[in-house]
Amino acid sequence: MFDFMDMGYDEAAEPMGSGPYIPDAGECMRCGICVSHCPTFRLFQIDEESPRRRIRTLGKLLVEDQPIGADERRHLDNCLQCRACETVCPSRMAYGSLFDQAQTRLKTKPVWLAKLAFKLIENKRWLGRLMPLLAVYLKSGLQKPLRRSGLLKKLHLADAEALLGKPVSRALADSYPANTRKRGRVALFTGCIAEHFDRDALLAAIKLLNAIGYEVLVPPRQGCCGAIHQHNGQSAAALIDNNIAVFNALDVDAVLHTATGCGAMLSEYQNDDEAGQRFRQRLGDINEFLLKHWPDHLQLTPSTLKVAVHEPCSQRNVLKNQQAVYALLQKIPGLSAVALVDNAICCGAGGSYMLTHPDNAGQLRALKRQVINAASADVVVSGNFGCAVYLNADGGGVEHPLVLMARQLPFM
Ligand code: SF4
Ligand code: SF4
Repeated sequence: MFDFMDMGYDEAAEPMGSGPYIPDAGECMRCGICVSHCPTFRLFQIDEESPRRRIRTLGKLLVEDQPIGADERRHLDNCLQCRACETVCPSRMAYGSLFDQAQTRLKTKPVWLAKLAFKLIENKRWLGRLMPLLAVYLKSGLQKPLRRSGLLKKLHLADAEALLGKPVSRALADSYPANTRKRGRVALFTGCIAEHFDRDALLAAIKLLNAIGYEVLVPPRQGCCGAIHQHNGQSAAALIDNNIAVFNALDVDAVLHTATGCGAMLSEYQNDDEAGQRFRQRLGDINEFLLKHWPDHLQLTPSTLKVAVHEPCSQRNVLKNQQAVYALLQKIPGLSAVALVDNAICCGAGGSYMLTHPDNAGQLRALKRQVINAASADVVVSGNFGCAVYLNADGGGVEHPLVLMARQLPFM
């Protein structure tokens, strides 16, 4: 691990005073521990593609208030924001927060396509109207000729189009009653595109919650968590304020998220006022909630499946609750759950990274696919919608752990 220490770094030429000193996020000691944990360092094997070097760039921007060069910018932009560096850093460097601050400081103007994407995920009504059109397109047989025509490539839509699954257009109901003696009521965070493309996981979550005695509310006015905006230098304030207001207005025991990417963002809403605190107090991860409230009498149907668990970066490095998934899967008698080797390395999805950096992302996905194949599992589970979509576009076999759990409910 320490082979990478100080690679290409000239200590004498750069005195401590002008280095990547970020006092409010702890001090980077340039120890290099983070380097071998960084997926882009694995790909490029150069120090410029390591967290340590990026921290220097962030320090330049945020502490010294200096402009950065095109190369520094390129290496910064290559970051997947997986935050693996943060997890191993002995100085507890707040890399994710620093990166987001730098994005805001850089004031990147989004290209027209990104602008359109931001608008769509901000506006659930527009998104909802787009879904039937997408479904028609996917059914029409136009996909192949359109791909062959090269038009999608010209419009920079080819990568996004390749990831398209069949969307569900109809809205979820506002409320799903418990189907056993009622113990309480929770609200479900469904996000923006996941509501249409990750419907199986959301319905599985509802079934499991209903089965353990909880009524589930799905407030229609909730919106995107804001992660894509925040990690790309756009303001997420309106989205955050809306979610806090919508969920705080509900009389529920908890607000639960099913996608770890959204959960990570929701758990880091910075609003320190009373409303923000109330929101965070009731926010919870569905795996942990199910585990905590699982009734002794509810026995799942046995299964002999071998399940490999993909641990999304947002779960490992932000929520840090991946053990809950293994514990929950143990509720299925006979099932064996193993961790994927190299779970600490990002699969390449990285929120919007799979679209903005398709080459890097594709290389990381290929590495992950090798690990998946070597696991020889019957199924791979991932608690993050983005990872599952990206991995499934290259071989399939990945589903949300809750989908697997819900299939084993005795009254299904
Ligand atoms: S592990 Fe932390 S302190 Fe060490 S080089 Fe990386 S960011 Fe700096
Ligand atoms: S967030 Fe991930 S990709 Fe970015 S520097 Fe840290 S480890 Fe590397």
